[in-house]
Amino acid sequence: MEKFIAVDRKEILKYYKPIAVDTHKGIQGHALIIGGSYGKIGAVCLSSKSALKTGCGLVTAFVPKCGYEILQIGIPEVMILTDVKKKCISNINFDFQPNAIGIGPGIGQNEATQKAFLKFLKSNKIPLVIDADALNILSNNKAWFLLLPSGSILTPHPKELERLIGKWDSEQEKFEKTISFSLQYKVIIVMKGAPTHIIDGETIYKNTTGNQALATAGSGDVLTGIISSLLAQLYDAIEAAVLGVYLHGLTADIAVPKTGFQSFIASDIINHIGEAFL
Ligand code: AMP
Ligand code: MG
Repeated sequence: MEKFIAVDRKEILKYYKPIAVDTHKGIQGHALIIGGSYGKIGAVCLSSKSALKTGCGLVTAFVPKCGYEILQIGIPEVMILTDVKKKCISNINFDFQPNAIGIGPGIGQNEATQKAFLKFLKSNKIPLVIDADALNILSNNKAWFLLLPSGSILTPHPKELERLIGKWDSEQEKFEKTISFSLQYKVIIVMKGAPTHIIDGETIYKNTTGNQALATAGSGDVLTGIISSLLAQLYDAIEAAVLGVYLHGLTADIAVPKTGFQSFIASDIINHIGEAFL
C-alpha cells in the first residue's frame, strides 16, 4: 500500500541536523564527485561547489585531465584527482574512502567511460548519487542496476526517467512503474520535475519548494552536489534525497524576488543555499 508524505517546512524540520560545535572537517563528511568531459567540466564545478556549500567537510572531484586547471582555479577549496585521459573518464581510480559519491554530471557516454563505469560498479560499496549520463549509461545496460549498493539515489529528469522505466500513458502508470523499479533494485528515485517527487519503495514524498526559475542549465548538477554532500554527512539516503530536493527548491523561492525568473542561473542556487539553511 502506497504512503504519501508532503514535504513542507514542518516535515523537513524532522530531518534537519545542526552541525556540532566540536566537529572538524575530517568527520564532517568527504564527498567525491565523479564526472566531466571535454566541454562539460562546468557540470563538475557546479556539483563540487554545491557539495561544499551544503556542509560536508571535504570535496574531491575526479575528472579527465582537461578539468584540472579549471577546477583548481575555479574552486580552490576542492581537491582534484584526474583520469589518465585528457577528454573523458576512462579509469575511475582513487586511494581514499569517501563517505558518498556523486557520479554523472558532464560525464558523457564515451565508450571508454562506459567501460570504466562498469568496472567501478563491480567493486564499489560506497553509497552513490547517480545522475545525467551515468544514469543513461545504466539505462542502456539494465543488468548493471543490480550492482548498485542498496539505498543508492537516482536523480532522473523526465527524459532520463523514461529511459529508466520506459514510456507511460498516465501519471498513475508513471508512479506505478517508478515504485516497482525502486522496489526491484532497492534504490531511491528522485523524479525531478514541477514538483519533484521522491520514491522510496512504496513511499512517495512530494516536495513543496521550487519554481520555474530552476528550469536552467546546470540546475540538476547542483542538486547532485547537494544530495551527495548530505549523504556524506549524518543523513541516511532518504533523508539526504528529501532534504536536498527541499533545499534546492527553496533557494529559488528565496532568490527569485531579487533575481526575477529569467536571470536566475544554477550558480544562484549555490549562492542561496546558505539562506535556505537559515
Ligand atoms: P536537470 O534537468 O537535470 O538540470 O534538473 C532540473 C532541476 O530543476 C530539477 O531539480 C527540477 O526539479 C528543477 N526544475 C526544472 N523545471 C522546474 C519547474 N518548472 N519548476 C520547479 N522545478 C523545476
Ligand atoms: Mg541533469
